[in-house]
Formats: sequence, C-alpha cells, structure tokens
Amino acid sequence: MSLVSKSEYKSEYDVVVVGGGPAGLAAAIAAKEAGCDDVLLIERDRILGGILNQCIHDGFGLHRFNEALSGPEYAARFIDQLRSLSIPTMQSSIVLELSTKGGLPSLLVSRLGELVKISAKSVVLSMGCRERPRGALAIPGHRPSGVYTAGAAQNLINLENIMPGKRVVILGSGDIGLIMARRMTLEGAKVESVYEVLPWSSGLPRNIQQCLVDYDIPLYLSTTVVDIVGMKRLEGVKVAEVDKDRKQIPGTERFVPCDTLLLSVGLIPENEIARGAGIAMSPITGGPVVDDACMTSAPGVFSCGNALHVHDLVDWVSEEAERAGRSAAAYAGGKTTREKKTIQVRPGAGVRYVMPDHLVSDDAILAFRVNTPARNGKVQLVSRGEGGGEKVIKEETHARLHPAEMIRIRVLPGEVSTLAAGDVLEVRVP
Ligand SMILES: Cc1cc2nc3c(=O)[nH]c(=O)nc-3n(C[C@H](O)[C@H](O)[C@H](O)COP(=O)(O)OP(=O)(O)OC[C@H]3O[C@@H](n4cnc5c(N)ncnc54)[C@H](O)[C@@H]3O)c2cc1C
Repeated sequence: MSLVSKSEYKSEYDVVVVGGGPAGLAAAIAAKEAGCDDVLLIERDRILGGILNQCIHDGFGLHRFNEALSGPEYAARFIDQLRSLSIPTMQSSIVLELSTKGGLPSLLVSRLGELVKISAKSVVLSMGCRERPRGALAIPGHRPSGVYTAGAAQNLINLENIMPGKRVVILGSGDIGLIMARRMTLEGAKVESVYEVLPWSSGLPRNIQQCLVDYDIPLYLSTTVVDIVGMKRLEGVKVAEVDKDRKQIPGTERFVPCDTLLLSVGLIPENEIARGAGIAMSPITGGPVVDDACMTSAPGVFSCGNALHVHDLVDWVSEEAERAGRSAAAYAGGKTTREKKTIQVRPGAGVRYVMPDHLVSDDAILAFRVNTPARNGKVQLVSRGEGGGEKVIKEETHARLHPAEMIRIRVLPGEVSTLAAGDVLEVRVP
C-alpha cells in the first residue's frame, strides 16, 4: 500500500478525503476513477476500513455484491481497489481542523508527533459517527464498571479478545444492540433481555429474527432502564414501562440482575471539524446540509456516509460516497457541479428528514426516514411552486415503512425539469 511518508506527502492535493471507512474508501476511488489523479486519503486509525473492521458478522454488501459479506470482507474489496489505483493514504493521522476561510480549503493534521497543513481543491468529509454515551441519557444511579456502549463491547470482543461480562442487559434495539445480543450469547454470556423505549424496534427486521428470536432473547418495547445499581461493579438495573410520551408508568418498575449493561441508544455523526469550519448543519441529522452532489455550504467541501446522516446499510454508504467522490473530482477539475437552478427538498407529513437539502441537477436520489411504522404505505413526491399550487410528481407504495429503515426514491431526469428555481420538492407519507 502506498503510505505517505514524511518526505512523500505534499502540502497540496486536488482531492483530500478525511476518513478511511467505507465512505472514504469509495469516495477516494470514485474521485480517482473520475479522472482526478491527485487524491489523498487521511485516516486516524492504523488500518483502513472504519467500523467494518469490528463487524465480523455477515450481512454487508447484499445489494451491491449480491453476497452476504462480513464487514472486513466488504472493506477489503475497496481497500484492494484503492491499492490497485495507487491512491496514497496517510494513516495514524487525525484531521484536527478544517479551514475554509480564504484560498483553498486546508486541513490541520496531527501525525506521528507532528502537525502538518494540507490544502486541497476539494475535501470530502467522511468521518463516520460515534455512539451516544450514558452521559447523554441521564440515567440515575452510580457509576459502576460494567456499563459499555454496544460498539465498545463489540470492539473489545472482536478485536481485543476481551469479554466484558457474563450476565447482560441491553438498552436499545438498534442494529448494534441486536448484533451484540447475539455476539454475547455466542461468546457464552447470558443475555437477559433487550429494552426499547419506543413502541417499536429501531433495528432491521432480519436482525430481530436472527439475533433475538433465534436465540430466545426477549425484547421489551416501551420499556427503559431507570436506575443503575451497584457501586464497584454493576449488580443490576431497574427497568420500567413508559407511556407514549416516554414518561415512566408508576408501579411497573422491576429489578433485573446483571453485571453488564450495553447501551445501543443512537449514533451521532462525527462533525467537529465541519462545525469548526462554520459549515451549515442540519439539526435533525447532525450532519452538514448538502445538495445532491453532496456539496456542503462551503464550496469544494463535500460530505458522505455516516458523517452526513446515519445509514443502516453500508451499500448505500458506498453509493452516496461515490457520488461525493465524483463531485469532488469535478469541482477540483474546475467543472463545477453547481448549476443555476436550485430546488429545495423538504420533509412533508410523516417524514423525519430528507437528504439532500436541495437539488442542483435533475438526476438525484432522495434518502429519507419516516416518523412511524406502516404497512403498504404510500410515499408521494410533491412539487410546490411559488404560488402554492402542488403537483404529485410520483407515488410509490412500500410494503414496509419503518423509522429504522432509510428509504430511497430516485428522481429521474425529466421528472423535475419543469420545476423552476426556488420551487420546493416535498416527500410525504399521505
Ligand atoms: C455494529 C454495527 C453493525 C452493522 N451492521 C451492518 C450490516 O450488517 N450491514 C450493513 O450494510 N451495514 C451495517 N452497519 C453499518 C455500516 O457499518 C456503516 O453504515 C458504515 O460503516 C459507515 O461508513 P462510514 O465510512 O461513514 O463510517 P466509519 O466506518 O465509521 O468510518 C469513518 C472513518 O473515519 C475515521 N475518522 C474519523 N474522524 C477522523 C479524523 N478527524 N481524521 C481522520 N480520520 C477520521 C475513523 O477512524 C473511521 O475509520 C453496521 C454498523 C455497526 C456499527
């Protein structure tokens, strides 16, 4: 692999990609394949692959490769391609700061005991996301050992060969929590139960079946942990049912003995450097506001993958990142991807958010999440002109609409070509 050594790296590149997970890998490859020869990928870890390195279960690449790969297998396909294209990488190197003020965007990178500044015509931000910690939940109780985020426990077991505990309770039924329920069971722990504050699971149906049902692990909905008991080591948790406003229902409290509590209660896009650069952020997704070329409010700075919005499937991360990489290459090559016509994209009834925020081309993918689950639900794409008149451009029926699953609609050339600049495109669940 072409590692950039101190004497090899330059102070300016055409495209610099921050983060070597599946998003960064796909973006760097796409930029190079789009004709940009001068691409650098910076990764803070020793190895490339991002979170996939600790995901040894299968289920990756079902859409892209029509195969159920493990995380490392999926990552290896992209790392091999990156190597075959001779794209240089700077590993064990963390980007501390992005500056977009005056001249080219520039990055402050800490590596091997030194600080370096690297400028680029285009920058792709693909730093992934981090887990919401206990502190963000404000669960009362002491601070005994035995409380982990699910991803931290996954890292300990799969990469460090350390077993975090023997008797486990999991809070949160997102995919990481479900995968860890099965993983802990396979490693010999007793998983007592999984608790979910919402009235539905936030995990993919296949993970509910394969990780809980197949192992007889009970899932309690509308139930949460209300107290953490134990001084030195966790002795158990108190759980209670909650009403539709997530308020504890008196009299439902019960004690569940355990030595380990795994928290799988949400992911937060990693965007300190985007925020520091003054890039406009979405309060709903926690990622930058972008157009359909993945360009942020800072010209020449693009965002993709979990840093942009949390994805459930890596296949869509790779696809989105390829778009960002191609756009970054085009921007660096002076072929601006910003056209004059800008169509605003907005979430309508029943939709939590839609990505991107606005369209600058008429060939785009809209990715969105609904607020509540529905069977055979209709999704409408509606245009709204300045006068307020609306027109249904497209209607699709989805066998399953669920907040845990990102839904995608392709906007084809011709479908929005009659819209004028400033018109609004709304995605709604009527
Ligand atoms: C437990 C778990 C199970 C999953 N299971 C599945 C599954 O079965 N099927 C599926 O399709 N998807 C699954 N996913 C989702 C999929 O893994 C993610 O969507 C995907 O890894 C996101 O890719 P990313 O590149 O955006 O982020 P990441 O993989 O998190 O990569 C981000 C990279 O950026 C680096 N970085 C961050 N900040 C900096 C910085 N300042 N400077 C330099 N580098 C930086 C990080 O070190 C990291 O390598 C799972 C995810 C998890 C966590």
